Amino acid sequence: MSWPSSTDLLAPLAPWFDRVRRDLPWRVADLDGPHPDPYAVLVSELMLQQTQVATVVPYFTRWMERFPTALSLAEAREDTVHKAWEGLGYYRRARFLKAAAGSVAAEGWPGDLEGLTGLPGLGPYTAAAVGSIAFQWPTPALDGNAFRVLARLLLIEGDPKDQAAELRTWLAPALQRHGPSRMTQALMELGATACLPSPACGRCPLADRCGAHLAGRTGDIPPVAKRTKQTAVALWLVAIEAEGHLLLHAPAAKGLLAGLWRWPTVDATEPPLQPITHSPWPITAWPGWTQVYTHRREAVSPLHLRLEARFPLSAGLRWVPRGHLSDLPLGRRDQRLRDLLDTPGQVPLEAPDPAALIQILSEK
Ligand code: SF4
Repeated sequence: MSWPSSTDLLAPLAPWFDRVRRDLPWRVADLDGPHPDPYAVLVSELMLQQTQVATVVPYFTRWMERFPTALSLAEAREDTVHKAWEGLGYYRRARFLKAAAGSVAAEGWPGDLEGLTGLPGLGPYTAAAVGSIAFQWPTPALDGNAFRVLARLLLIEGDPKDQAAELRTWLAPALQRHGPSRMTQALMELGATACLPSPACGRCPLADRCGAHLAGRTGDIPPVAKRTKQTAVALWLVAIEAEGHLLLHAPAAKGLLAGLWRWPTVDATEPPLQPITHSPWPITAWPGWTQVYTHRREAVSPLHLRLEARFPLSAGLRWVPRGHLSDLPLGRRDQRLRDLLDTPGQVPLEAPDPAALIQILSEK
């Protein structure tokens, strides 16, 4: 590895960032001292994992009004926390944030990177970002954006993540010289606004020294990661209503969807379909959509079935009063059906057999 000194190579980044930095609610004017509210940095970093800045800003503002301190978050009910997170996706982050806040409220902030990495939900990247932005520790935070910038700048062949340890060692002196908080945020900003997958090198402060730009290789450095293989499924997403109640799955305690209420789903390729003229109960439908997750694509067909009476349920299902629906945390897909319930639907041409549905959902 014969990379030039990071303090010299990255020097233009600091004044550039001071000039172009976006005004974000978790950013403070003074980037040379410790952040006055490390909890705000923790919240912003957890929210920014997997989510765009523009989406995070209103959530962050509401969150800080609702849970202004680590203690207030630690003491909040889990349902309330999930509800405040509703729409941001990747709900594990909300649970991690609450757990991390509990640890900070009980024991105070850790004094080093190892301690931060031990907080729930803080991987090496987030811990390093919080360390540098909140506490001015020279702990380089490498996420996908930073790896892309550095791979191009240093003309790294292959996957730059394979050289994560070397890159951290290389970056640390630049953080020490130009300010950990400033340099960490400058790298993030460059990756988010100029060094995009299709880079805008014309507005990059490092263009005169960037290996990939000078070599005309920004298209193949870093190599494009292979796409995750997705499973395709088709399902009916069903709101069953009876006696002023709606049928939902209660939240699971663990797993990806822990903490979230869910509508029942039925495999759209399995249950018997029936022409709707034969349904004994009113059914309405809305146009479907494709819900995309990292590993899964769902062709979703939303339905609303109204029954005269509630029926006994199998484990994990609950009849929820319709008036309580807006208080429950739902994932993005299920929020869409909740919103549709207030808009006119149409009679579908065909639907799963309601009797078969009830059979599936009722007590064995
Ligand atoms: S010159 Fe272009 S490729 Fe190089 S760091 Fe800047 S934006 Fe990225």
